[in-house]
Parts: sequence; structure tokens; C-alpha cells
Amino acid sequence: MSFSIAIDGPAGAGKSTIAKQVAKKMNLIYVDTGAMYRAMALYLIREKVNANEADKISEKCKSADITIRYENGEQVVYLNGENVNPYLRTEEVGKMASASSVNGDVRAKLVQLQQKLASEAKVIMDGRDIGTCVLPNANVKIYLTASVEVRAKRRYDELTAKGETWDLEEIKKEIAERDHRDMTREISPLRQAEDAILLDTSYMGIEEVINAIMKICEEKGLWK
Ligand code: C5P
Repeated sequence: MSFSIAIDGPAGAGKSTIAKQVAKKMNLIYVDTGAMYRAMALYLIREKVNANEADKISEKCKSADITIRYENGEQVVYLNGENVNPYLRTEEVGKMASASSVNGDVRAKLVQLQQKLASEAKVIMDGRDIGTCVLPNANVKIYLTASVEVRAKRRYDELTAKGETWDLEEIKKEIAERDHRDMTREISPLRQAEDAILLDTSYMGIEEVINAIMKICEEKGLWK
């Protein structure tokens, strides 16, 4: 029997942190779809394609073979046979992922992979279009969000902890731009599915959010 939890929301809302922990507690496979868009973006950067070259992106994405494996409980993304996990979480790749994910050919290819993964295991999947497009019949749909200020501060703290120096206002501007692009694109824009439950995490701690999601599952009889 298929079982899925869909988590959508803007960048920095805490989707992956939360989904990973819920996956552990409920014994689900965590599928990070952003990492797939990032792997595609990395490929395009390496192929020296510009974000505004739509035809070239459509053409090049055909030769990017993206596959997922689970190693020691972690999702590992392979791009043409290479483990690219170490290269996915840079600002450059994130920006290119946001720009190239508007492309219908890129989306069609990755959505197919995501649906296949969900048909093979019980999953909790996060992204931008999971509840609206990838898994319209998910058992539970959550729309996770937080204010731009809070999300920018979280990202700033994360980068500072890694020893990087960034300007908070600049991060805020980039997040707002990314939100705008993700929410206004023509194909599968980021929006809350009609049957999704909204969780604003601006003033919630991680444990609180996890407990809220587990409670929703429990109320639906999906969890003891
Ligand atoms: O979630 P993450 O920041 O890793 O995603 C990178 C980019 O990939 C997002 O800004 C978004 O444009 C795109 N994406 C998407 N659909 C998804 C997941 C990510 O368009 N399901």
C-alpha cells in the first residue's frame, strides 16, 4: 500500500530538517526533491548553460541521468554516475536550481522520478509542488512556511556557522526573489494545496513542528 506525506513551502521554512526527523520517527523514506533540481542545476552549470537559455536547458537536461540511492539512511543523488551530494548546497547551485526549475522538460523528468520513488516506498517528500502536482493523493499534506525575516535569519545563522560571511539584508533579498520566482512561474508554482494544512513556523521550535505533524497523522489514524 502506498503511503505518503507531502511537505511544501518556501526556501528556509525548515522543510528538510522537519521531514528528516519525522521520517525517522515514523520509519519513512525521506525524499528531498530540491536536491534533484539542484543536481540538474549543477549539471547545467558544468555544461556552461545560462539560466535564461530555455531551449538549451530543454536539450541538455535529456543527457543528465539523475538517480537516487539511500546510503546509511541518507539520500544520495547521483548525476551521470557521480555522487554529487557535496556540491548541491551552494548559493550558486540554489540560484540556478530556482531558475532552471521553471523549465517544463526539467520538471517532467524529475516529477517522473519522484513519483516512481513514492510508488516503491512509504515516503515523506518535500519540495514546492508535491501536494499540488507530484503526489495529489498524498495521505497528509503540509504547507510549511515562516516570515521572510525569520527564514533569512535561519539561513544567515547556518552560513555563519559554516564560517561564511554574508550580509543578512542580501540573504533576505535573495530569499524574497526566490519566493517570487517559485510562486509566479507558469508550471507548478509554489502554492498551498487546497487540502494542505498550513503550519507557520516563524515562532515554533523544531520539536513543536514535528509534534504538530505527528499529531495530524495520529488524528487521521495513520500513526498510533
Ligand atoms: O528546496 P531547495 O532550496 O533545495 O530547492 C531548490 C530550488 O528547486 C527551489 O528554489 C525551487 O525553485 C526548485 N524546486 C522546485 N520543485 C521542487 C523542489 C525544488 O521547483 N519540488
